[in-house]
Amino acid sequence: MTLETAAGPTWGIVGGGFLGMTLALRLARLGVRVTLFEGADHLGGLADAWQLGEITWDRHYHVILESDEFLLRLLEDLGLTSELRWHETRTGFYVDGKLHSMSTTMQFLRFPPLDLISKLRLGYTIWRGSKIRDWRRLEGIRASDWLVKMSGRRAYEKMWLPLLRAKLGENADRVSAAWIWAIIARMYAARRGGSKRERFGYVEGGYARILEVLEERLREAGVEVRLGCPIRSIDASSLQLASGETASFDRIAITTPATIVPQMCPSLEADEVERLTGIEYQGIVCTSLLLKKPLADYYVTNVTEPSFPFTGVIEMTALVPPSTFGGRSLVYLPRYLPAEHAGFDVTDDDLRREVVEALERMYPSFEPDDILAFRVSRVRRVLALTTLDYSKRLPATRTSVPGVFVVTSAQIANGTLNVNETIKLAEEALPTLLAHGDAPHETNDAATDRQLVAGS
Ligand SMILES: Cc1cc2nc3c(=O)[nH]c(=O)nc-3n(C[C@H](O)[C@H](O)[C@H](O)COP(=O)(O)OP(=O)(O)OC[C@H]3O[C@@H](n4cnc5c(N)ncnc54)[C@H](O)[C@@H]3O)c2cc1C
Repeated sequence: MTLETAAGPTWGIVGGGFLGMTLALRLARLGVRVTLFEGADHLGGLADAWQLGEITWDRHYHVILESDEFLLRLLEDLGLTSELRWHETRTGFYVDGKLHSMSTTMQFLRFPPLDLISKLRLGYTIWRGSKIRDWRRLEGIRASDWLVKMSGRRAYEKMWLPLLRAKLGENADRVSAAWIWAIIARMYAARRGGSKRERFGYVEGGYARILEVLEERLREAGVEVRLGCPIRSIDASSLQLASGETASFDRIAITTPATIVPQMCPSLEADEVERLTGIEYQGIVCTSLLLKKPLADYYVTNVTEPSFPFTGVIEMTALVPPSTFGGRSLVYLPRYLPAEHAGFDVTDDDLRREVVEALERMYPSFEPDDILAFRVSRVRRVLALTTLDYSKRLPATRTSVPGVFVVTSAQIANGTLNVNETIKLAEEALPTLLAHGDAPHETNDAATDRQLVAGS
């Protein structure tokens, strides 16, 4: 395989999330002329930052793991390693109207909702899951069947099912065991130090700081960054912007959610359209709160109360010192929903009312007046649902339209969505993007193989 380098073809990249930015940086550093088009007026996509009252921090809660090797390498490249901070955090569990700590083995063993045998089987499931390397054999098994077999029905119904419902709602029974394996493996990796306590990291200043430096590096590398430029359509070598302007490139890479690709690129073949539109997404309604005082001292509290308007409480100030936020407490309340769920239409006012009621039930010391700022992010396409045998239906990277490529997070075959996987996906896609010639578009098997190499 030959790679094009200096004075190679010109590239247009659609989408300024971590996928698009990584591709742009890597291509530009090979001497290729790159233009990066982002629909929003800033870079970052799901990992962007926003203003909440008087503070600027991530729109969605983000942490870094010590096992995030691709992300850590990027941070080193950006000169940000010295700004990384690591802390042990605690995990809570809100079940049957009570808040429990689940941060140490002893607390786990004392956890009242489960009998000892169920706890041991649950612990075994997590340990066993963390040892599995070939997730492909889990792809044909439903997560629910695998978890019942490994942990027993009681632990499944008391722990796993509420957790699956929290992340997947009505889709809880549709994902494969590869999905839950990926979550177990990532969370186990967060506890891999000697203490076995959960340890997370962040960069001082949050993703706003990472994005500031990354944007600087993109421009230094010669990338033309075009913000506020949603792409309306793509026809072979030509992009049409929503403004009506057109721009021509030798090659184009689309990094947006998969289901919108056929709308942009109408000349794709029927089987490609079917694969791209066949992907089902989970979205999120994620409430951010800036509070006068903390709620508890858990980074994550899993919530299994179905009547609540959120399925977890993420208290960022259990990781990032409150002094970063002028002594305030920063809390996220995520609710994961299928992309077309009516929950996306709940107004901010109604959501705020429901949130206040739920927090009053959970935390006796919480008062509505504690809320200094309230803001809601709604995104319909966040995570592709890893249904049975998902990797066999992945959209290919090379499309039938000459010079047009699709690199989308939906190609992360085992369903772990995080910045590290996103960067890895971009880096693994580069050889396909840079290969010479107009070979017929990549088969799905080839796309899967590439993923398997990436995930091995
Ligand atoms: C609630 C939440 C919590 C998370 N927590 C973590 C965490 O703790 N750690 C972690 O590592 N990761 C976390 N992630 C995941 C992480 O944010 C994603 O993996 C990553 O940001 C995905 O990047 P991407 O480039 O694939 O997609 P996106 O960020 O979605 O980027 C796609 C970009 O394309 C743009 N676009 C779309 N259509 C067009 C168009 N027509 N023209 C031009 N531009 C267009 C969009 O505006 C967007 O900027 C979290 C995500 C969420 C939602």
